[in-house]
Amino acid sequence: MNRRPIVGVLALQGDVREHARALVACDVDVAEVRTPAQFDGVDALVLPGGESTTMSKLLAFQGLLAPLQERISGGMPVYGSCAGMILLASTILDGRTDQVALGAIDMVVRRNAFGAQVDSFEADIDVTGCGPETLRAVFIRAPWVESVGEQVEVLSRVVTPTGADRIVAVRQGAAMATSFHPELTHDVRVHALFVEMVRQHV
Ligand code: GLN
Repeated sequence: MNRRPIVGVLALQGDVREHARALVACDVDVAEVRTPAQFDGVDALVLPGGESTTMSKLLAFQGLLAPLQERISGGMPVYGSCAGMILLASTILDGRTDQVALGAIDMVVRRNAFGAQVDSFEADIDVTGCGPETLRAVFIRAPWVESVGEQVEVLSRVVTPTGADRIVAVRQGAAMATSFHPELTHDVRVHALFVEMVRQHV
């Protein structure tokens, strides 16, 4: 492409500024998205970490739900971290019955799967496309991916404190999601991977 992509960050709730900072470091233009008009102006969207049930309500309240669903179906690149991953799932376990599952990625996600806030942890993990060094991943009341459809590429797994092996990063077409928060570290490799997807798409 011959122009700089504009990557939106859904700015209804959550760690918006941290994502914006990481994206700026990846050399794209960044725009906060709170309204359908702002959403029209972006080439891609990041759904931040925060609280998926709150973001779900605010998406509907702001009139963003239908346009978002439409553009996801049209193949717009999207990346969700933690709460954002939950929003992008096709099925949510342990969610609220009224929370939205955008279905951008064919996956079953279990909300708060690693436990409560006090069970938050960090781990050094391998992430496909971000190697060769491992990446420090921060998990805060994080979901894990319980199962994925055939079209989904698993980018990373983690062994939980109780010894289970869980999927924590995935990609399907132009949609990517992580259980952890790369925006909370100074390592921008996950954002760079997403930006590469955006550049290919735009
Ligand atoms: N547990 C939160 C949710 O359900 C996600 C936590 C996070 O984004 N750190 O949305």
